[in-house]
Amino acid sequence: MKTDFEAVIGLEIHVQLNSATKMFCDCPNRTGDEPNQHICPICLWLPGAMPQFSHEVLEKAVRVGLVLNCNIQQQSAFDQKVYYYPDLPKGYQLSQAHQPLAKNGWLEIIGEDGQSKRLGIRKIHMEEDVAKLVHESDGRTPISLVDFNRAGVPLVEIVTEPDLRSPHEAMEFIRTLRTYIRYVGSSECSMEQGSLRVDANISIRPKSSDQLNTKVEIKNMNSIRNLGDAITYEIDRQIGSLISGDPIVIHTRLWDPEKRVTSPMRGKFEGPCVPDPSVPQIAIPDEFQNKMRCLLPEMPDQKAARFVNQYKLNYEEAVLMSSERDLSEYFEAVVNRKVRPRTAAHWIATQMVPALKERNQSLTDTPVTPDRLANLLTMVEEDKINANSAKEVMMRLFETDQTPQAIVEQWGFKQISEISELENLVDEVLSTHSSAVNNFRNGQAKALGFLVGQAMQASQGKANPKRLREILTKKLG
Ligand SMILES: [Zn+2]
Repeated sequence: MKTDFEAVIGLEIHVQLNSATKMFCDCPNRTGDEPNQHICPICLWLPGAMPQFSHEVLEKAVRVGLVLNCNIQQQSAFDQKVYYYPDLPKGYQLSQAHQPLAKNGWLEIIGEDGQSKRLGIRKIHMEEDVAKLVHESDGRTPISLVDFNRAGVPLVEIVTEPDLRSPHEAMEFIRTLRTYIRYVGSSECSMEQGSLRVDANISIRPKSSDQLNTKVEIKNMNSIRNLGDAITYEIDRQIGSLISGDPIVIHTRLWDPEKRVTSPMRGKFEGPCVPDPSVPQIAIPDEFQNKMRCLLPEMPDQKAARFVNQYKLNYEEAVLMSSERDLSEYFEAVVNRKVRPRTAAHWIATQMVPALKERNQSLTDTPVTPDRLANLLTMVEEDKINANSAKEVMMRLFETDQTPQAIVEQWGFKQISEISELENLVDEVLSTHSSAVNNFRNGQAKALGFLVGQAMQASQGKANPKRLREILTKKLG
């Protein structure tokens, strides 16, 4: 019965733009600081304050429109979205209800069947964020505090067409959108930190139908995984209602990440939306739009294709190395220092990225610069140290500013490649492990691995494993 239905999903996505200042004043755009540090008469909307629309905000918003393949509108304008709530002292929010910044875009994702699917974007509009309410209690009386640092922070709201059919498509859409917007430097797009907020509108219909039924909005998903789980839960809940004959009514529900259910929230008063007289209309001439288009960076899919061609990475490596702009630039910086591309990709993916995560560092602020990593990897490629030692050296690069060469000298990581030294090691191992030698001679091939391991251990991990194995094989006849 459940399989007779399909879900119709549309998303409303708020992206906090990372401009230096707020949308209509010069206050720093920093929401995480001590409460009420970044405020002025404009973002507090004291009487007589005149808003000044930021050009930097416009550029960041236009870039979002361009990478989402939208038509940027030559004229757009702000409206006053009226509602009364303590997070909004002036009683309305500046938003673009009637003349949005951009319309009719699309984004391609990879669907569950592995095929690419194009999902429509209805519109993108700019709006100011509102203040943040903090609810506390002194044990007896509940109190609500208002932090105005967030008031006037620039947002774009992206509204999709109801083209999505599954939790997978919603998660893929958000992943792709996040990558693209980060690439053009308009936002960090962190769901966990609130710079990307996603609401989903969900309705259910029989599979053969193309009607749009009553939709329910769900909110409060603060990770991509929670988005998928909340949509899955809501689809099952609505199908359950339909099967048991309960009507679906239009309302909003909150996702509870602890209980992993959605539950109804009280409705918010929605007032009228009237044109705003205080901010002039925004004109975007074609020249400005063309200039912005020319300044867009190479996007991840183009970059991945180039990495396959130019550096001979395999497809998975190329997709990984181009998945974030910082990562792709770091990778190319290492490669430009004459490291083999596949060696660079392998070490960055398997060693650098986990080590950064552990230390809470990013590729742009780590002491392990592309230069230092390239020096280290060159030593590996030149057989001066083996891979085990290189991992040790790399960990030390995080702690000191010594060069990799100096660390190798100081800590004695130099690879033992001298034949005579390796032969001594091998002789010693052969005499102390005569039973393993006998086993090998009696046809147990895996005894060789054991002997190589013993010799590596005797060299404290510094022997050249390839040569060691060659000498051992030769001596065993
Ligand atoms: Zn301000």
